[in-house]
Parts: sequence; structure tokens; C-alpha cells
Amino acid sequence: MSENEWFLQLIRDGKSRTEAAEAFYQMLERRGEIRSHLVVTYRCPHRCLLAQVLRTDRGLIVHRARYKLSPGLNSQASSESGRSKNTEDGDRRWKASTFYLDQAVNVTLDCPVASCQYLREG
Ligand SMILES: [Zn+2]
Repeated sequence: MSENEWFLQLIRDGKSRTEAAEAFYQMLERRGEIRSHLVVTYRCPHRCLLAQVLRTDRGLIVHRARYKLSPGLNSQASSESGRSKNTEDGDRRWKASTFYLDQAVNVTLDCPVASCQYLREG
């Protein structure tokens, strides 16, 4: 099955574009094929992984690994409802996310890693 057919199958199954992007990333991860689709990896100056951009037949997708925010930044940068929806613990352990680049309107590339030195310098 080509990538395109694979995506179309997901859409036919009632998946949203974002769900299809997530499923596609997970499929690449299972098959060990991330590297062959990788366009660019963003890291903070201290090398923490911020985001990966991958090429697919249906456009560029962005993947952000799960991360934990410091308590201060967390309450400053997110809302109660956002936290309950997108974190693993309802607080500051943010889930991994995958989405199309054209949906990436609110994405910042600040380092989210609580233990990272870059935050304390910045
Ligand atoms: Zn960092």
C-alpha cells in the first residue's frame, strides 16, 4: 500500500487529518523509518529535542515529543482546559503530538524541558 492509499484508508475510516498524521508517525516509528522521511530536526541550544518535520505524500507533518514543563512556565503558557486535554497527568506532562505543518499556528520552539539550562539563561 502506498503512503497515499494508507492515508486515504485512514480518512475513510473516519479519522481526522490530525489523527491520520499521528497514526502515520506511529507507523514510521514502528517500522524504524523516521529517518527516511525526516526533513529537519529542531533542537534548543542545549540539544533538547523540540520538533521533527517529516515529509509525507500528503504534505509536511510536525512531531513534538512528550515533555514536562517547569511549574512556573506551565501555568503561564497554558490554560486549565488545555492542560486537562493535552497532558498525561492533567498538569505539566505534555503528550507527544503530531499534526500537519499548516495546522501549526500556535507552535513555539521555546525549549520546554524543565531541567534544561537554556530556560534558566533565557
Ligand atoms: Zn533545552
